[in-house]
Amino acid sequence: MKPTHIEHIGIAVKSLEEAIPFYEKVLGLECYAIEEVKDQKVRTAFFRVGQTKVELLESTDPEGPVSRFIEKKGEGIHHIAFAVEDVEGALREAGSHGIQLIDHVPRKGAEELSIGFLHPKSTQGVLIEFCGI
Ligand code: ZN
Repeated sequence: MKPTHIEHIGIAVKSLEEAIPFYEKVLGLECYAIEEVKDQKVRTAFFRVGQTKVELLESTDPEGPVSRFIEKKGEGIHHIAFAVEDVEGALREAGSHGIQLIDHVPRKGAEELSIGFLHPKSTQGVLIEFCGI
């Protein structure tokens, strides 16, 4: 596996409405999509920065993973997503190196992309996502 670039950086926020103006008014980026991902119990807002995106994550459920993340650590960087050609193969390869997987097979994430997560216990505390087409 060789990631081609950082596809996006996921940032946990309490409120999209409160967070979006910083990216639009201060950084001058444009929020081009707001999408609910039921599977992950989040609403997401996307901004393009070159080849990479910023994905703001707002929880839709107080028991959801992003709510629990904010309770424990506060708002902030939640995950880093690497673009790979073959998410399933990348997960298998990481697993073969003894990395603990959250997803053994890819699932559908925002923007209909195929995604899979590695467990932060195995990756120095960083939640790593693989993201493919
Ligand atoms: Zn993501």
